[in-house]
Amino acid sequence: MTAPTPPSFTTQLVHSDRHFGVEHGGVHKPIHTSVQYGFDKVEDLIGVFQGTLKGGYNYARQGTPTTAALEAKLTKMEQGVGCVSFATGMAAITALFMTLLRAGDHIVSSKFVFGNTNSLLGTMSDLGVQVSKVDATAVAHVEAALQPNTRLVFVETLANPGTQIPDLEAIGALCKAKGILFVVDNTILSPHLFRPATVGAGLVIHSLTKTIAGHGNALGGAVIDTGLFDWSCYPNIAQAYRTGDARQWGLVQIRKKGLRDMGATLSAQHAHLISTGAETLTLRLAQTSATALALAQFLEQHPAVAKVHYPMLPSHPQHAIAKKHFKAGSWLMSFELRDTSRCNEVINRLKLPIAATGLADNRSLIIPVAPTIFWEAGAAVRADMRIDDGLIRLSVGLEECADLVADFEQAL
Ligand SMILES: *Cc1c(COP(=O)(O)O)cnc(C)c1O
Repeated sequence: MTAPTPPSFTTQLVHSDRHFGVEHGGVHKPIHTSVQYGFDKVEDLIGVFQGTLKGGYNYARQGTPTTAALEAKLTKMEQGVGCVSFATGMAAITALFMTLLRAGDHIVSSKFVFGNTNSLLGTMSDLGVQVSKVDATAVAHVEAALQPNTRLVFVETLANPGTQIPDLEAIGALCKAKGILFVVDNTILSPHLFRPATVGAGLVIHSLTKTIAGHGNALGGAVIDTGLFDWSCYPNIAQAYRTGDARQWGLVQIRKKGLRDMGATLSAQHAHLISTGAETLTLRLAQTSATALALAQFLEQHPAVAKVHYPMLPSHPQHAIAKKHFKAGSWLMSFELRDTSRCNEVINRLKLPIAATGLADNRSLIIPVAPTIFWEAGAAVRADMRIDDGLIRLSVGLEECADLVADFEQAL
């Protein structure tokens, strides 16, 4: 006898709200705007503060029923054991670093990371955390950087904007062997295309603003615990949080110190927008990934284009990892023109992709990388992160593929 097949990703997603027992039979979790939560018996209020009354709320900075519903969805999507949501992706990363690291600790980070994450790593270094930035496409570089005080290894599954892919499986195995926390920013791919738990990640980060929300109308971030890391071995967990199920210790500290005390709480309104946006995740990714691949193939053979960075092209240096682990290549690509002096002209000639920063909107967005999002970083950092002056980033939207190809054809 075969075991019954569990409902698929989207099937679970679109039915998850009503299984929480939504008031009045609503099929969506409503937007709870209340800041205060009152109780008939003061003992229940005390129970919420002391953590003995499960599922209770006291003050909206620490979460609402609306953020809790989104957190439950995200936990399911990554098949983890818990989630804490934040106002933005950067708030999630900041809370994680600030609550899990102390002065004198060391971390190893991929050098191919989101620009503001790279800038935050500089702040962490100013605060006394040693940071080694390595080319994580080869596990040997990560291993060579490890020190006795290394607390975590940080990578992005598909780096923005260069599309580099870390040696995910080998880094996961290395972290497991050494008992080091493996933190993976899975913003671009989302759990539909890849689940970092499959390569041993302990914590997964999302900027919900991008792939998961999808519509360019809400900011949000999240940290999800996969349940794979043994927090009882992690030195920086405060004594107060070393009680109960050890699999929850990390997230409890991130929620208390990183959300309650630092205060970058996701609003109920945005949690709701992200929740409904997430329902069409698989449909959006199927369309944008197919379009991005066709467009990448078109650009790669075009005489005006020098180079295309897209993981599902056989020319991509980590194509084998992408083929093995990712369901599709996503909507993110970048490319370089042969004549880089034509960069602005070509972008201005495009009628569909909008010259704008931001990612994973339903509309295609295009941006020259060096003079904008990586301008403040300076030439030396750009060279180290392999961001050439002519690199153009494209976030592929839901426009029909033929329309985009025709637009690029006329612009080039
Ligand atoms: C955008 C982004 C972030 C930051 O997210 P915000 O929601 O904009 O704060 C972090 N990591 C990656 C990979 C991103 O693309």
